[in-house]
Amino acid sequence: ARARYRERNPASERQLAEAATVMPGGNTRSVLFHAPFPLTMVRGEGARLWDADGHRYLDALGEFTAGLYGHSNAVIRQAIIDALADGLSLSSHNRREVALAAEIQRRFPSMALMRFTNSGTEASLLALATAKAFTARPKIMVFDGAYHGGLLSFGRGGSPINVPHAYVVAPYNDLAAAQALVHAHGPTLAAIVVEPMLGAGGCIPGEPAFLRGLSELARGCGALLVFDEVQTSRLSIGGRQAQLGITPDLTVIGKYFGGGLSFGAFGGRVDCMAQFDPRRANALSHAGTFNNNVLSMAAGLAGLQQVLTQEALTALNQRGDRLRERLNAVLQTHGVAAQFTGLGSVMNLHGMSGPVHCAADLATSNTLLKELLFFDLLERGVYMAQRGLVTLSLPFDDAACDEMLGAFEDALRTRAAV
Ligand code: PMP
Repeated sequence: ARARYRERNPASERQLAEAATVMPGGNTRSVLFHAPFPLTMVRGEGARLWDADGHRYLDALGEFTAGLYGHSNAVIRQAIIDALADGLSLSSHNRREVALAAEIQRRFPSMALMRFTNSGTEASLLALATAKAFTARPKIMVFDGAYHGGLLSFGRGGSPINVPHAYVVAPYNDLAAAQALVHAHGPTLAAIVVEPMLGAGGCIPGEPAFLRGLSELARGCGALLVFDEVQTSRLSIGGRQAQLGITPDLTVIGKYFGGGLSFGAFGGRVDCMAQFDPRRANALSHAGTFNNNVLSMAAGLAGLQQVLTQEALTALNQRGDRLRERLNAVLQTHGVAAQFTGLGSVMNLHGMSGPVHCAADLATSNTLLKELLFFDLLERGVYMAQRGLVTLSLPFDDAACDEMLGAFEDALRTRAAV
């Protein structure tokens, strides 16, 4: 499969060789690399992508959930162009940042006060720093397989270069284990930080009882509950917290809220976030030249105000649920020990058939099978992540789902025949 891939993609291979002379491994985002070399995409439109060798793909990756609006949404593009006319970096507050914050707060009422950043990584680091300052405690409870950004990841995919917080790691979806850790570390815990669904860890949904239990554990020991909804924020207008009726103390978001441009935000309880109020004595400082950059503000606002309706988001997530069920049915029909886990428009392929509740359950996943299916799908014009991630964008319609399913079925049929 790799040999055929190499043959089909000489321009992408050349691009990697060139890039490797100026960036380690020819790469500036580790997540994008896969052997023998990743594709270089040159154009996107709606739910379509074109690579450097001229192949056309259905985009089933959707920029790891950030590409909710698809490529070149006309409304968002126009908003960016309009914003350009007034200058980019104004060395001041701008009108769009408050409008965007208000739109976010309407959807996530738990984010009573919020701050913007350039990425989800920064936002999660700052949320945890906020919790440490507020509680005057040093430690964070995180979960095995979690990904809270490039500096806070606890799972597969390389080791974090630096985790700037003291932490204890608990297994995901195991309330008893979390309870035991709270028992041991409770008075020193500043926060329990959790993705309501493990994202990079394999799209493993957090069980509602587990997430509610964490909320109680946090309250009981005086730690803050931090929901990292960078990925799950797209599961409903108010994220997974709205679906479950859980009010975290702090929330981290990013990805699609910037309309496809760089963005992150953290926010929550007034008393926690007011620490950043510069009118206060001893306020926490949080700076960042591009935190309120006009283009992200304009694109994010246009997306929330003019593109993303409740109906469209509900339909998208239902489409994802249906697609996941149909893909799993096809895998069963062909007797392949693999499955897609996930929620709504976010799912991940695993090379195993047993239950998947936590990162450790994936130890027996057949990654070779995943890799083969990844190359098979590329040949059939479907672009997903080699690690198995699939996320749908708004233009990824029913016809796109049928197309993906057809490609998947064809790949399984061809594999069974050889
Ligand atoms: N938290 C979660 C749950 C994420 O999935 C990600 C990114 N994939 C981040 C934080 C970090 O966001 P960013 O890539 O914008 O730094």
